[in-house]
Amino acid sequence: MDFSLSEEHERVRRMVRDFAEREVRPVIKEHDRKQEHIPWVFKRMGELGILGICVPVRYGGAGMDYIALGLACEELERVDTSLRVIMSVHVGLNSLTLFQWATEAQKQKYLVPQAQGAKIATYALTEPGAGSDAAGIQTRAVRHGDHYVLNGEKMWISLADVADHFLVIAKTDPEKRHRGMTAFIVERGFPGVRTGTIHGKLGVRAGNTGWIALQDAQVPVENRLGEEGEGFTIAMTALDNGRYTVAAGATGLIRACLEASVKYANERYTFGQRIGEHQLVQEMIARMAQSYEAARLLYLQAGWLKNQGIRNTRQTSVAKWFATDASFQAASDAIQVHGSYGYSDEYDVERYLRNAKGAVIYEGTSQIHQIMQAQYALGYRQDRPLRCELPAYDPEVWQAEAI
Ligand SMILES: Cc1cc2nc3c(=O)[nH]c(=O)nc-3n(C[C@H](O)[C@H](O)[C@H](O)COP(=O)(O)OP(=O)(O)OC[C@H]3O[C@@H](n4cnc5c(N)ncnc54)[C@H](O)[C@@H]3O)c2cc1C
Repeated sequence: MDFSLSEEHERVRRMVRDFAEREVRPVIKEHDRKQEHIPWVFKRMGELGILGICVPVRYGGAGMDYIALGLACEELERVDTSLRVIMSVHVGLNSLTLFQWATEAQKQKYLVPQAQGAKIATYALTEPGAGSDAAGIQTRAVRHGDHYVLNGEKMWISLADVADHFLVIAKTDPEKRHRGMTAFIVERGFPGVRTGTIHGKLGVRAGNTGWIALQDAQVPVENRLGEEGEGFTIAMTALDNGRYTVAAGATGLIRACLEASVKYANERYTFGQRIGEHQLVQEMIARMAQSYEAARLLYLQAGWLKNQGIRNTRQTSVAKWFATDASFQAASDAIQVHGSYGYSDEYDVERYLRNAKGAVIYEGTSQIHQIMQAQYALGYRQDRPLRCELPAYDPEVWQAEAI
């Protein structure tokens, strides 16, 4: 068993860290305060190849593996969660889903510009009345000849007001519940599509979150992803990749809490000692160190399984559940270590706490992951083979200009 990272992985880690530290950290507080996304961030991440990091070169990507995706997410969220959210929806939930399920024509039309960073994409499953219970969505898609007409509303959609392409899940046969769901690639410019921003969020304030209204929205039949009735499966396989990015990102957030706490604990004195010398402060720091190591191993295990082309729903779920719960605890402890100063935005740790809370809600709440883990352990849940599996990583294929 080899736990070392390759030179290529180290290079990606350094490049992404450098970008996040030098270009984003100096301005993040201001954007978080103003509750505005950083307008140039998509262009810059596209230029650096981050938005197509694990997409094959022939589809406009950088041709790296799934571990590189995880490392990039860890480094991005070490600086701010809003950066990693871009990776979760654009790469994890959308581009990799197209890579897994789309036709060649759909890949050329949508995946290529997304991987190049020329178009931004997101994922729209949640509705005002249905989050955890995804089979309860109400959005309807009715076929009329060469197009579908979609009606419904999507809520809490990351990048809703800035994305060019949306992966929308709708019901084509409502009586069949999850077996009657279908996935569609929807362009912002299609007739009947409107979006808006949700204001007043607790965290991810430098990231856009919003709603999508579909009112007699016209979607060509060639924009259906997969077959009618495959929407639920497609939505769930998308989450296998989205959750992986969330797990890796939350690992970065734990590290940010640890680094900030170690620095402060070595600078602040009480009772004639550095606070880091008090055992009860050490307890909090030790818990962050422990969580970081465990979270990192869990997401790297999931990334390794993806590289091998092995289904990883269970392992990705446990990685996401553990890392996000642990990052919330780490951020709370980091504020405690900083005392009153941690309670103000003079330091970053209050932002870490606000950002950490979102990730225990989206892409499966902690309760949903507990249920999944119990069901796997008890033998009530099994993964069935899919019509389209996420391909195993093969460097020769991924880095080839053409096949
Ligand atoms: C910042 C942010 C960004 C998001 N981005 C996206 C996005 O890009 N795309 C998208 O589609 N969605 C997105 N979401 C939505 C998110 O995925 C949902 O909010 C999440 O799935 C939970 O759904 P809900 O809010 O409807 O809560 P509910 O499902 O109503 O759950 C409410 C509470 O009940 C608990 N609960 C529900 N069912 C059970 C059960 N069976 N057993 C025990 N407890 C249960 C839940 O754990 C939770 O604590 C985002 C949310 C946030 C906050």
